[in-house]
Amino acid sequence: MSLEEITARIRAAESAANRASGSVTLIAVSKVQPNERVEAILRKGQRCFGENRVQEAAGKWPTFRETFENIDLHLIGPLQTNKVRQAFGLCQSIHSVDRPKLANAIARVAQEEGHCPDLFIQINTGEEDQKAGVMPGDADGFVAECTKLDLPIKGLMCIPPVDEEPSLHFALLAKIAARNGLSGLSMGMSGDFESAIAQGATHVRVGSAIFGARDYS
Ligand SMILES: *Cc1c(COP(=O)(O)O)cnc(C)c1O
Repeated sequence: MSLEEITARIRAAESAANRASGSVTLIAVSKVQPNERVEAILRKGQRCFGENRVQEAAGKWPTFRETFENIDLHLIGPLQTNKVRQAFGLCQSIHSVDRPKLANAIARVAQEEGHCPDLFIQINTGEEDQKAGVMPGDADGFVAECTKLDLPIKGLMCIPPVDEEPSLHFALLAKIAARNGLSGLSMGMSGDFESAIAQGATHVRVGSAIFGARDYS
């Protein structure tokens, strides 16, 4: 599907939900995609991208930034504490704040660097063992902990279980955000971004629908 089609579908979903046009940010998830595909999307004017590994982001975005201005890069995958400083140098947002040790490391580096990317706390809405994220029952306490550290928490992020109705998870994430006074909701991927927008998503993370299937071989 083309970038134009995805954008049109986002605008239609905003309108269907009686939301302002442009209230949803499209994060084009470029992980694993060949550079030619990413560059084609950059040439169409897209500037907001998502990567899920610091190493991979470091390998391609500094070069793209030599040619394209105002790139807004979002880290949407797990972050190790020893990569926090590198992430600060590459990304404008981090969507995977998911444990006290990481929150503390981010606070320390923010103090030293004098700036901090926008942050989203990842919630494990499906309470899946293999998935990262704060358990829903621990969410309020963790938000409070991050607030105490003065971290710029913009909102929450989730990745629903593959075999469950995603809208239930989007609704849960929206509920946790609302009761914590957080306005950002990073939710919705290629298969379910319209449903996420109906539930209040402010950031949708769409990869394969824009770039085509990822080739991990
Ligand atoms: C890969 C990835 C996406 C994009 O998934 P698609 O199904 O290709 O749209 C979104 N969010 C996260 C956290 C991802 O790792």
